[in-house]
Amino acid sequence: MTVPANAPVNLFGLDRAALRARFAEMGEAPYRADQVMNWIYRRGVDDFAQMSNIGKDLRAKLAQAFVIQPPELIAEQQSADGTRKWVTKAGEGQAIETVFIPEDDRGTLCISSQVGCAMDCSFCSTGAQGFSRNLTTAEIIAQVWFAAKTLGGNFQTDRVVSNVVFMGMGEPLANYGEVLPALRILLDDHGFGLSKRKVTVSTSGLVPFIERLREDVDCALALSLHAPSDALRDELVPINRKYPLAELMEACRKYTIGKDRKAHIVYEYVMLDGINDSPEHARQLARLLAGLPAKVNLIPFNPFPQTQYQRSPAERIRAFSDILRAKDIVTTTRKTRGDDIDAACGQLAGKVQSRQKQRLRDIPVKSDVPRLVRGHA
Ligand code: SAH
Ligand code: SF4
Repeated sequence: MTVPANAPVNLFGLDRAALRARFAEMGEAPYRADQVMNWIYRRGVDDFAQMSNIGKDLRAKLAQAFVIQPPELIAEQQSADGTRKWVTKAGEGQAIETVFIPEDDRGTLCISSQVGCAMDCSFCSTGAQGFSRNLTTAEIIAQVWFAAKTLGGNFQTDRVVSNVVFMGMGEPLANYGEVLPALRILLDDHGFGLSKRKVTVSTSGLVPFIERLREDVDCALALSLHAPSDALRDELVPINRKYPLAELMEACRKYTIGKDRKAHIVYEYVMLDGINDSPEHARQLARLLAGLPAKVNLIPFNPFPQTQYQRSPAERIRAFSDILRAKDIVTTTRKTRGDDIDAACGQLAGKVQSRQKQRLRDIPVKSDVPRLVRGHA
């Protein structure tokens, strides 16, 4: 048996197929890979010495070839409402954030997929920071393992982290190559074993990758819509200039086809005072979603320094919600959690260095130059 010559690989970065392939290279049976995954993800073990059903020789070889490397904690905060935020190191001088939101019936972990974000949405603190780099699969999965470990409890029976949402820093579908294996590990019975409805990718609308996601893995999708017309969405979510609403809604319509009867997309809609929150916007939104398996989640805007926006007043959010409900669209309003520790949606800023500000905002709107901006994934 030969041990891979290169530097130790972090096992958090390998999904089952990749780990089995490594084991095959080492002359080991596939079930050994499954056993190792069980130790890590079902029992919370990060020490090869504790993997008691694996022979001593193999354990020694594993310890040479691999590491099980949790993230390095920089800071930890707990909100008055029980929400917890961890800031962890993402390379020299950089940091990402992971947030745990406990509720009566579930524990939701909100994870980051990139250091910063290039999508430049005008109401988002992460977007305001610009983009530095993609996280690796290992860095994505390590956030989940670390949170589960830190929160305590038995990995197998307690399920303190019952739901995982890609709603932290970054645009997950802009980092598809690293996010896909992470999704597989979250959903795999030998991995975290979460059910497909409890793992949610949230996207600003990268159409080609919505289509690929549908083909590659079965998980829940949240779509950050925020505006019911191209003119407004071009301003709020500039990627709309590349993938306008007609294409986006078509990709969304296709996403649930062939899935089970309960499959739907959650459309997220941030409530910005005087910008996208009028009764007419609500009626336009209802028309856009008519006939689709859709739920709407209204997110009261969370302010951050230097923002030009304000949160819509509660009564306007209620009126907006009532209009959608009158059209039989299931509508919920997200309870703001963890805002006292800057852990609420859109407040995650981490520490982003050597960033490039990709100026999506400079892409001409589609109606001006239809050819120029289309078709680049
Ligand atoms: N990039 C992905 C996932 C991360 S953002 C996406 O955009 O979907 C997670 C959610 O928080 C998105 O719906 C996003 O639009 C929303 N959000 C961003 N900034 C916000 C803010 N300041 N207040 C409330 N929600 C915000
Ligand atoms: Fe990126 Fe999402 Fe923020 Fe837009 S809302 S800038 S896509 S993290």
